[in-house]
Amino acid sequence: MQNISPEAASEIAAALGPGGVLARDDWGPFLEEWRGRWRGAPSLIAAPASTGEAARLVRLCAARGVAMTPIGGNTGLAGGQMATNGEVLISMHRMNRVRLVDAAGMTMIAEAGVTLAAARDAAEAAGRLFPLSIGSEGSCQIGGVVSTNAGGVNVLRYGNCRDLVLGLEVVLPSGEVWNGLKRLRKDNTGYDLKQLFIGGEGTLGLVAAAALKLFPRPRDKAAAFVSVASPAAAVRLLARAQAASGGGVTSFELMSDAIVSLTLAKIAGTRRPVAQSPWHVLIEFSSGEEDALRPLVERLLADAAEAGEIIDAAIAQNEAQSANFWRIRHSMAEAMRGEGRQAKHDVSVPVADAPAFLDAADAAVARIAPGARVMAFGHLGDGNIHYDILKPEGAKDDALAPVLSAIETAVHDEIARFDGSISAEHGVGLARRDEIARRKAPIEIDMMRRIKAALDPQGIMNPGKML
Ligand SMILES: Cc1cc2nc3c(=O)[nH]c(=O)nc-3n(C[C@H](O)[C@H](O)[C@H](O)COP(=O)(O)OP(=O)(O)OC[C@H]3O[C@@H](n4cnc5c(N)ncnc54)[C@H](O)[C@@H]3O)c2cc1C
Repeated sequence: MQNISPEAASEIAAALGPGGVLARDDWGPFLEEWRGRWRGAPSLIAAPASTGEAARLVRLCAARGVAMTPIGGNTGLAGGQMATNGEVLISMHRMNRVRLVDAAGMTMIAEAGVTLAAARDAAEAAGRLFPLSIGSEGSCQIGGVVSTNAGGVNVLRYGNCRDLVLGLEVVLPSGEVWNGLKRLRKDNTGYDLKQLFIGGEGTLGLVAAAALKLFPRPRDKAAAFVSVASPAAAVRLLARAQAASGGGVTSFELMSDAIVSLTLAKIAGTRRPVAQSPWHVLIEFSSGEEDALRPLVERLLADAAEAGEIIDAAIAQNEAQSANFWRIRHSMAEAMRGEGRQAKHDVSVPVADAPAFLDAADAAVARIAPGARVMAFGHLGDGNIHYDILKPEGAKDDALAPVLSAIETAVHDEIARFDGSISAEHGVGLARRDEIARRKAPIEIDMMRRIKAALDPQGIMNPGKML
């Protein structure tokens, strides 16, 4: 456990000015993470209000060899934002200005501490769309979504965060500032350095601001909640929906009946939209044309029913119904809270392999933990499944504790068989650090270590995370 000296603490306070160092009474929200898996123990919490202040802070820490951990909205699910070892925790919440919205050029520049919801609102106020959409958008911040390369429900149409970033401003571990905030869609002048920091989880520097891509706002949207017999039927429906809409599918979310039923039971005000069946899909389409989608979606679902691909379907008649569909999907993580120790996986495979992966993983889990409840759901359109295992109904909270690591190994072994990823969108942090060291090719880990050593030779930027 590292502790900074009182002199260093007062130098930092002087460099940042009033509000730049948090009083201990205000530390509470920074010490716990969403799932309660890790507890933070920082030696100080600093909150710079500008890139200049952030650079001064990092320079001071670098000069004394003090380790730092960046934190955004603290919604990360891999523990990367937890200062578990006396680091100086750098909260970006005071850097919360949208510096520019260029509606004609379809770009915006937002500082790291702008929440995702505020960035989306700023784009919308200018008649544009910033399409990144995740369940935590009211709390997570631009610096956090960039640093985790967040995905979410619109990746199928617009890509993940990496596809939405044009440029970055970064404070390097030395305290130097790289102004890479170019808003160019084309720039082939050498290595694309911003990619190192996107998904870098704060291990290579502090993201201070990002230049982001904007899109036209859709003029029409349609959502349908569909019952299907199997994941294989869902994959066939995806191909049919993409072909019929000319690539207009924005979201394609697969949900097993187990997780839908748990969510309906636990989350007040949710209602089952369609007949109960083993699997469900929430599909959303968007279009630049007004009133274009309803007839298209009706025809598509009728054709799919005739082909035996779907069992039942409900098309949202209005915003409220669409909101109810999405509330069910977005409440799934919440519904599983309080269900005791769980084995959680955020994995991806090629889309067509998702059904075979699910069969194989289910069989492996049933062998290791008979009676355990499999909650499978996620962004099937991206091949990304959240595959979570809960204790058997009525069992003690820690019933799965003795087999958690056996379940995780078995599920990740199946992922390896399908050449998939053991962390599709939540990142590595503390949660998957040891696992990626085992599962990635040694040459990949070696290249990552060499990049880390080149940019952070002292090893002071978010040490112990990812690598
Ligand atoms: C209910 C819920 C739903 C979610 N849904 C999704 C989803 O659909 N898709 C998805 O991808 N994720 C999802 N997440 C995970 C999480 O919201 C994302 O990982 C998000 O991008 C984290 O942003 P944050 O600002 O909260 O970052 P934090 O949790 O504060 O930090 C995450 C990581 O980024 C680093 N970091 C933060 N800010 C900076 C910065 N300015 N510079 C450098 N490093 C920084 C931290 O050190 C840490 O390693 C969900 C989480 C919750 C709680």
